[in-house]
Amino acid sequence: MSSSLLPTYVRADVVFERGEGPWLVTERGERYLDFGSGIAVNSLGHAHPHLVKALTDQAQRIWHTSNLVRIPGGETLADRLVASTFADRVFFCNSGAEALEGAIKMARKYHAVKGHPERFRIVTFEGAFHGRTLATIAAGGQAKYLEGFGPKVEGFDQVPFGDHEALRAAITDATAGILIEPVQGEGGIRPVPNQCLRGLRELCDEKGILLILDEVQSGVGRTGRFFAHEWAGITPDIMAVAKGIGGGFPLGAVLATQEAAQGMTAGTHGTTFGGNPLAMAVGNAVLDVVLEEGFLAHVEKMGLLMKQRLAELRDRHPRVIAEVRGAGLMLGLKLNVPNGDFTVAARDARMIVIPAGDNVVRLLPPLTITEAEVGEAFARLDAAATAIEARLDARGAA
Ligand SMILES: *Cc1c(COP(=O)(O)O)cnc(C)c1O
Repeated sequence: MSSSLLPTYVRADVVFERGEGPWLVTERGERYLDFGSGIAVNSLGHAHPHLVKALTDQAQRIWHTSNLVRIPGGETLADRLVASTFADRVFFCNSGAEALEGAIKMARKYHAVKGHPERFRIVTFEGAFHGRTLATIAAGGQAKYLEGFGPKVEGFDQVPFGDHEALRAAITDATAGILIEPVQGEGGIRPVPNQCLRGLRELCDEKGILLILDEVQSGVGRTGRFFAHEWAGITPDIMAVAKGIGGGFPLGAVLATQEAAQGMTAGTHGTTFGGNPLAMAVGNAVLDVVLEEGFLAHVEKMGLLMKQRLAELRDRHPRVIAEVRGAGLMLGLKLNVPNGDFTVAARDARMIVIPAGDNVVRLLPPLTITEAEVGEAFARLDAAATAIEARLDARGAA
């Protein structure tokens, strides 16, 4: 498989030609059950008729104008996000990392305009993932992503996941805010307990710093609420969103309270592509579906069903599966065998799952998944685990 692409990804040798809901179809007509959703991106599955229509209708009118003129679709989408979240202000961009960059800049600017430019540091957590730009690899703090890319961007202090003492100690007069994923995605589907999120909110209020949530993976219905932090009954000051909000179209957003956003005046931040009419048409179409009466309840119901079936799977295959984790349709299997092996075995059973840190595979099906499709997923995962056990037995016998 030689190609002119920069080889930063180790790719599976499979090509999908089209998709329908949770199904991906190869050039040869083989059907794979997609429980990866392009890494939590295709929130409504593939080729959702409402999204296809919104995109194609808009494509015939106008794609891009720049942000130097008004974009009505963006005004509408921002109004809708404000109406259904804690936020008062929205900035659109094209990806998760860019949303995080915007969120980090906003937090720093907030303190700067309040007369404290020295308050620019952000506390983050081990196992976090916030993107691959220079600032976001510094925020994520993972050595494997920082290695060889020069000095780490200044201003990020990382503490162990769940270490309250270390967290308190990390907050100084130079701290601007705390940045956390309510459910760590790449880190291995590690949910932050509701009580801890409430504790973080209190701590931020006590210290006069900002709570910044990275809901790039956990947001837009993924956990059965519009945003995962709603489970804890708290609100952040700033939130980064991407992945699912575009349903497959590159779209990110920074949401914030008016208070937190106060430093972001004309000229302080920008993007050429962000929030263009094509992206806004798709984003509005995604919200049409996700905010429809009963949709989030469906996600919650399918999530509970999945979790039950996965627990059953763990009981059937204790040598392969150690633990089931997650919330809603953001689920993970912590494995007793290498997650890469499980990913391949699942693919052999014509099912897509996504590896994550902590030896986990993620299950991130389209939010539109049905009970029958959950049953189908169980059968395929069962086949994958059985195949791995057969290999373990063969190795034991040899
Ligand atoms: C994927 C992800 C990002 C980065 O998003 P990109 O669109 O790849 O830049 C940031 N934070 C979290 C939690 C993510 O899952």
